[in-house]
Amino acid sequence: MLKPPPIRPWTCARCIRHEHRRRLATAATSATTSSSTSAPPPLASHRDPQTSHQDATLRQIFDSQPFWKDFSARQTHPSRKSVGLFQNRYLTRPEGFEHFASITLAKCKRIVTKVLAYNTTEQYKSIAKDLDRLSDLLCRVIDLCDFVRSTHPDRNIQAAATQAYAQMFEYMNVLNTTTGLNDQLKAALALPEVTASWSEEELTVANILARDFAKSAIDLSDTDRQAFVELSNEIAEIGPEFVDQMVPQTPLLKLPSSKLKGMDPLVVRQLTRWGSVSLPTIGMPASLALRTVEDADTRREIYMANRTSAKANIERLEHLLHRRAELARLSGHDSFAHMALSDKMAKSPEAVVKFLDALAADNAPRVQSEMQELLEMKKCDARSGNFPDNLNAWDRDYYQHQLLQSMRSRTRTPDVLSAYFSLGTVMQGLSRLFHRLYGIRLVPKEAAPGETWNNDVRCLDVIDDREGHVAVIYCDLFERAGKSPNPAHFTLRCSRRILPDELEEAEALRNATGGLFESAQEAATDGLAANKSRRDNDELYQLPTIALICDFAIPAGNATKRPALLTFREVQTLFHEMGHALHSICGRTALQNVSGTRCATDFAELPSVLMEHFASAPEVLDLYARHWETDKPLDTSRVAERVNLDTYSQGSETEAQLLLAMLDQTYHSNLPLSPGFDSTRTYQDVWGKYSSLPEPAGTSWQGFFGHLFGYGATYYSYLFDRAIAGKIWKDVFKRSELGAVDPSAGERFRDEVLRHGGGRDGWKCVAGVLRDESGKLAEGGEEAMGMVGQWGVKD
Ligand SMILES: [Zn+2]
Repeated sequence: MLKPPPIRPWTCARCIRHEHRRRLATAATSATTSSSTSAPPPLASHRDPQTSHQDATLRQIFDSQPFWKDFSARQTHPSRKSVGLFQNRYLTRPEGFEHFASITLAKCKRIVTKVLAYNTTEQYKSIAKDLDRLSDLLCRVIDLCDFVRSTHPDRNIQAAATQAYAQMFEYMNVLNTTTGLNDQLKAALALPEVTASWSEEELTVANILARDFAKSAIDLSDTDRQAFVELSNEIAEIGPEFVDQMVPQTPLLKLPSSKLKGMDPLVVRQLTRWGSVSLPTIGMPASLALRTVEDADTRREIYMANRTSAKANIERLEHLLHRRAELARLSGHDSFAHMALSDKMAKSPEAVVKFLDALAADNAPRVQSEMQELLEMKKCDARSGNFPDNLNAWDRDYYQHQLLQSMRSRTRTPDVLSAYFSLGTVMQGLSRLFHRLYGIRLVPKEAAPGETWNNDVRCLDVIDDREGHVAVIYCDLFERAGKSPNPAHFTLRCSRRILPDELEEAEALRNATGGLFESAQEAATDGLAANKSRRDNDELYQLPTIALICDFAIPAGNATKRPALLTFREVQTLFHEMGHALHSICGRTALQNVSGTRCATDFAELPSVLMEHFASAPEVLDLYARHWETDKPLDTSRVAERVNLDTYSQGSETEAQLLLAMLDQTYHSNLPLSPGFDSTRTYQDVWGKYSSLPEPAGTSWQGFFGHLFGYGATYYSYLFDRAIAGKIWKDVFKRSELGAVDPSAGERFRDEVLRHGGGRDGWKCVAGVLRDESGKLAEGGEEAMGMVGQWGVKD
């Protein structure tokens, strides 16, 4: 609840491309929904004229500039009054952020005062809902302002958002040290009459909040709490420094150009000064050199420099790890990993190692055969005089590159794919897929004046065939100067049930704010979307409000007919991000703390990684992939060729991720507390034990592993979610009668996983969707972790 957002947003491991917010949540079951009560979603009804019109509009707003200009004319009309950013009525001008924060703060304070005064059983019964609302109020400002300050192009608005963010953040820190709230929550949890009256969702949230309080050291003695705060602050300082200072010990290598034979001569020429080449040892030129330089000794020299980090940063890392281990010890945990994993699906470092070991065993034959293939290539390489019978670490990229080149020359040109993936077509595909599987559609909505932060932003309503309006998505998908290039999914507002007494409070607020709000409901939601939930006795819910950020290239000259065409990788990215959005859309819980993506962080990538499988499925491509000019359908075997190229070294890539995950675990054990701790030796040991190619002595790559700070003992998560997603893909979707577009498979995934957000234990979700009868998965624990490892991560 009262937890500061992470300093850096969560980043998916595979490719820095997927960034989105994360929050912690926990395990327990939720009884919010029951799959037996719901009818299967209806099959696509594109014959319905309104639906097919909306479907066509969806494509056009993204693909046709003239159409978009007409469609969005109203939002930019100078005579119209702003409704406020995201329809938040406070945010019609920069000063509105202050107003928004102070009104919210007053609401928070009323709740705190009320809760601190509780002393009857009846009063304690509402504490889970009260504290959840408190958390929602904080997030309403913090999440929204965090997004605005990083995305809005107007500096005044950025500054106002930053100010409001800081104000709420400071208040949140005060609450975190308010022992009274913690005492009241503990008192409520100790009353059986109270807990018996709670829904499972309420119980789950109460437990999450209690645990979060415990994590912020509220139970420690004053001296220890002081030490805890100091350690936390120190970690918060060193961590970003470590990430910012990831430089090599030797930044440049001076080489005669003759040594770089094989490398792109244009690049070599650019790097040449006074007859010799100054090659930067990290970044694009270095990786190009490792892939293409023919002389093995030169590659070795580059490899060594590329993987040897600056000593100062290694010291910073060791300092960080040491402080983390101390922090864990101070709060009564065996190690930092134990502390970080207690609320994850994995639960313990032993279980993570069990998973990684099983996955490594599954991956071993693949990586061995890949290495064998590379060794054969090396043996046939007349130029190779450097240990011809062994593959060296500095040979891998070079021979992999050669292999890829020869595969490319054998396939038809896969680059023609983009013509079939105009952005509008892909959005249409996502909407059609969601409609087939879950009965929900993306419907273009005309944004109101002042509602968006840029005229490029498309606003979509998510419409459920049975429940009506269920979510709002703002799509800011085109590149723009000053905009972050990282694709991301942001939850601006979470799902939550609005209680009747809030409407009473809102009515008073409406009267006090003189005409700012048209109704009590509007005052209760600040103006953002709300709707009655048919699944919950027509109670009023605030709707999940999501922003998707990408940086797709705008076709040259806005007047051209050509739409934005996506590469296949970009299609996969969009599917991935929409997987996160889907979790927010379907995870419509009554309490905010467990809504949508607010689940255990090692479960959060499951819906998004699963969506990547859909991106290349022929039956999904058949739903939408058409040539932008000729309307000809795509020959889906071309996508299969492309996937084949992308996965040619999958075994070796998986091994690379395994090594990182293993190193992350080892570093976050209590090893850093032992007197002679040497992170380089540990790094060499882990590679020595698990790498299929020996790492040469002398390297110290750990100084470049910036994710050690952001992930801290949870780097395995991405591999873990990939293994689960792969299994669900194979066993649930592929095996269904209609394959990837089978509504019964969609219903199963929605009811067992998506619908619960973080309100149900991840293991119960997995066991439910896979129909596991052994009971082992539902139980979780080390054995279940081993089972997931055995599933492997083959695509
Ligand atoms: Zn992701």
